[in-house]
Amino acid sequence: MAENCIFCKIIKGEIGGNFIRRKKDYVAFKDINPKAPVHVLIVPVKHFASLENADDKDKLLLGDLMIAVRDIARKLKISESGYKIVINNGEDSGQLVFHMHIHLLGGWQKVSHWKV
Ligand code: AMP
Ligand code: ZN
Repeated sequence: MAENCIFCKIIKGEIGGNFIRRKKDYVAFKDINPKAPVHVLIVPVKHFASLENADDKDKLLLGDLMIAVRDIARKLKISESGYKIVINNGEDSGQLVFHMHIHLLGGWQKVSHWKV
């Protein structure tokens, strides 16, 4: 828990979140300003600002987050049509919330206008 971190506050229930999944080590909730028809954030409960601040000891957690992406994509029925995942790290990437998170983006019909 970090002071003044909006994602820590969502995880603690101090701010509302549209949760898809809540687990001991991570949560997933809908992005408040979606950039795709399906836009979910997968967020570790442990606060660290970005991947740069991940510890070597976090490798199991980081693996769990990727498996969570897979399972949530299946649950939201975008696994066959396809999806993107994005992790912004640091100012030049456009990161706005400095609590590491994975963006899961999908649900376009045939064409994604967001080419990375
Ligand atoms: P990033 O630029 O990678 O830090 O992305 C932060 C994301 O958090 C943006 O896509 C925002 O729309 C999203 N966001 C900010 N505040 C909230 C909130 N209260 N609930 C859900 N998503 C949020
Ligand atoms: Zn936080």
